[in-house]
Amino acid sequence: MTEFEGLNVLVVDDSVVQRNHVKEVCERFSIAHIGEAVNGQDAVEKMTQTRYDIAFIDLEMPVMDGVELVRVIADQKLVESVIILSSKDPVLILSVGTMAESAGLGVIGTFQKPIQTEQLENSLRRLTSEVAVEADDDGKPELGPEELLEGMAQNQLTLMYQPKLQVKGLLLKGVEALARWDHPELGVVSPGQFIQMAERFGLISKLTDYLFKLALRDKKRWHSFGLSVDLAFNLSPLSISDRGLADHVFDLVSSHELPPGEIILEITENAVAGELSAAIETLAKLRLKGFKIAIDDYGTGFANTQQLSRVPATELKLDRSMIDKVSTRPQNQAIVKSTLQLANDLGLTTVAEGVESIEDFRFLQQHGVEQIQGFLLARPMRADALLEWLKKDLGSVRASVMKGGSRSAS
Ligand code: C2E
Ligand code: CA
Ligand code: CA
Repeated sequence: MTEFEGLNVLVVDDSVVQRNHVKEVCERFSIAHIGEAVNGQDAVEKMTQTRYDIAFIDLEMPVMDGVELVRVIADQKLVESVIILSSKDPVLILSVGTMAESAGLGVIGTFQKPIQTEQLENSLRRLTSEVAVEADDDGKPELGPEELLEGMAQNQLTLMYQPKLQVKGLLLKGVEALARWDHPELGVVSPGQFIQMAERFGLISKLTDYLFKLALRDKKRWHSFGLSVDLAFNLSPLSISDRGLADHVFDLVSSHELPPGEIILEITENAVAGELSAAIETLAKLRLKGFKIAIDDYGTGFANTQQLSRVPATELKLDRSMIDKVSTRPQNQAIVKSTLQLANDLGLTTVAEGVESIEDFRFLQQHGVEQIQGFLLARPMRADALLEWLKKDLGSVRASVMKGGSRSAS
């Protein structure tokens, strides 16, 4: 295993036994450069002298403890990535990890001591795959506003659709449209690489319009094959403050002779936490016309209960960050449970996003989540593949989830 050979790591722990253990595990991956520090202060000195890729940080140390060290590292950008270790309870380790992440540090692992070989391997893979993606970007064409306009003119912008299944009986309830750019040189480009750019350059309403028409055309086609499930479509927070949006969306849907009640417009939690009055006006108009509204990425933003209660939404989508490994993370379990309670109180349908494992699925099922979207059940697919998936794959998805296998959609 030589792909990690070139990494430079620093092990920060006051216990020599623990340091040696981490070193040993690192040596199994042929990591050649392993430095050691006995406390936070010592670590800061070493990090200013040498450039490390990863620091292993023990939380309980004399002189400067791990929590303080994490803050200093983040402030001074001393390393890119950290792995947090402690013999304390996992919730504490996790919360320090969350703190480190929000301070801008890459947290590639949070573990109870002693760290296991497999855990380190997973963390290292996370790091090297991220580095690889960054390196890939070099020398490739940039995706700017002109390219986007050209891309739209050449019909390179498309949509993939990810099924949303009702937990009870695993019935198909709807699909979410997810933008893709079929770039002639870059291949399939994900929305993370062009939606924000479109927002910055004033192209988002043009792009949204283009994509929404595609989605309606696809939905119309499914209709003609007898399939009428909900279509969820993402709106940029910028669109929500556009006073003409509701009428425009309604006109487009009417001209395709589709019922607004089968269209869900998704807006992020933060869009309703900010300019609330403008958002509420647009959303209220959409609701009056019969559309459904989902609050997306719930758990990543800053909307308070009062703000949420004023949004005329119909659905709450629990963000992947609280769903991921929920079955083994007590802290996430607490957040998920209280969010479900809130959604119930507000009369919102609950959807869990990013469900990847059968264990997490079970947890969500037991706690009453109504709908699930995630790689466990299906990955986003092209419009044409949806009917095929319904006919051929849904049955085996059901069978494997019912019998509890840990299959993941390929
Ligand atoms: P989102 O609305 O939260 O969409 C869900 C994202 O999670 C999708 O990423 C989907 O592929 C991914 N996902 C679904 N299940 C799983 C899972 O089990 N595991 C993991 N790791 N990921 C999963 P995608 O397609 O890259 O989209 C990213 C974001 O881009 C979307 O997040 C949405 O905010 C934005 N976006 C996508 N399409 C549009 C669009 O047409 N308009 C606007 N304004 N934004 C869009
Ligand atoms: Ca969404
Ligand atoms: Ca989301």
